[in-house]
Amino acid sequence: MTSNTPSRQTEPPKDMLDVEDALDQILSLVDVMPPETKPIADTFGQVLAEDLVAPFDIPPHDNTAMDGYAVQAADTTPAGFSFGALAEQDGQATDDQTVRLKVVGELAAGYLYDGRLGPGEAIRIMTGAPMPEGADAVVPFEETDEEGHLAGGESQTRRAPGQEQPDEFPSVGIRKAAKVGANIRPRGEDVRSGQTILFKGAVMRGAEIAVAASMGIDQVQVIRRPLIAILSTGDELLVPGRPPEPGKIYDSNSYGLTAQVLEYGGVPQPQGIAQDTVEALTAKVHQALYHADLLVTSAGVSRGDFDVVKEVLVNEGQVHFWTVKMKPGKPLAFGKFDGPDDRQVPHIGLPGNPVSSLLAFELFGRPAIHKMLGRQPQPRPMLRSITDDAIHNSDGRRIYARVTVAQEDDGRWHAQLTGKQSSGILTSMVYANAFAICPDDVDEVPAGAEVDVLMVDWDHPAE
Ligand code: AMP
Ligand code: MG
Repeated sequence: MTSNTPSRQTEPPKDMLDVEDALDQILSLVDVMPPETKPIADTFGQVLAEDLVAPFDIPPHDNTAMDGYAVQAADTTPAGFSFGALAEQDGQATDDQTVRLKVVGELAAGYLYDGRLGPGEAIRIMTGAPMPEGADAVVPFEETDEEGHLAGGESQTRRAPGQEQPDEFPSVGIRKAAKVGANIRPRGEDVRSGQTILFKGAVMRGAEIAVAASMGIDQVQVIRRPLIAILSTGDELLVPGRPPEPGKIYDSNSYGLTAQVLEYGGVPQPQGIAQDTVEALTAKVHQALYHADLLVTSAGVSRGDFDVVKEVLVNEGQVHFWTVKMKPGKPLAFGKFDGPDDRQVPHIGLPGNPVSSLLAFELFGRPAIHKMLGRQPQPRPMLRSITDDAIHNSDGRRIYARVTVAQEDDGRWHAQLTGKQSSGILTSMVYANAFAICPDDVDEVPAGAEVDVLMVDWDHPAE
């Protein structure tokens, strides 16, 4: 060793790309998908491609926020009109000295009151029903004597959808004075006619879809979801469901990738398994391009591979083979193919090891799909956490260690390794909800030290 030899065991090869540089290059080659018009209920997670302008006020009428009685507020103070006994105490209607109003009707949500409320009158009204003309406040049932006054809590007015005139005119006791406007939701308080409620670029979540529905809109223009063709390569692979064969393993990458594509908002187009022959793989790639806005292959891209994958990818497209300064997941291919109809189809060639495939698609596929969806690539939340286990780094690459992150009794976030960290240990991903990051220039993060953790699954229960 010379004096300027770094203390670390292995220096990273000079041609390795940083994760961020690899991602920048991938993002520079994927495009936003064109818009499509579709029913709002089918747009969850898609990006709005037009502004939505309110065609009318919402709510369209002043309406009651409570079940109760629509009244004229002035009548509810003892100084106001009283149909029954009038009494006064501190200027308020009280339990003992209730203001009585004549009940002249009943109104359910969905109906207009045909008439006008006069002084001394009340209309029994249900939440959401438009305010009758002449009424300027609602007294909730709880502030009336309805329970005691009306036998068994039943209204003496007939219960019916919409508006009913009572057979006789019973009265209701108002126990508490109401202010003008009390318990009324004014017309247009949510949305004003002509107002832009959702802007182009909004991501359609439950709230956005609901607000579009509230405006009576059933179809919207959104950015189309990208079709993601998924192709596994390798002679060793078997389709799950088939009997086991000596020397073979089941294809798990296609299945993990399919779920990831769904999670990230793309439409998975699984293409099965391509055997390691030039003819078989070439045919599969061509078939996949028909179904793809992005082609994702797994395996056959590492250095010194015997596979024919690299040969086919180079023959058929403009593909670069990279090594990325990360572990697991160092080998990565990226490029473009000439697809049908003069379309250029971008391609991500993932490493074959199952953990590497999942990690690399999380780091590169997720932002690519988000860009294609017209979304701002949104990084996962990053936390500072104590690592309860030491994380070792002997390769000079950024380590993404599989961890379970949970908040413990000391109020701090703790990360624990989910077991052996080899890139073939798929179960290390099953228990993980995060990746703990050991930077490329750090040889070891000792137990008890702080690390950055990338929370890839906030909802995943951590034991
Ligand atoms: P390769 O990149 O082709 O050298 O593959 C690396 C490792 O990943 C090998 O052990 C392969 O058997 C394994 N592998 C490749 N493709 C898959 C797949 N689709 N599902 C599970 N393991 C795979
Ligand atoms: Mg292989």
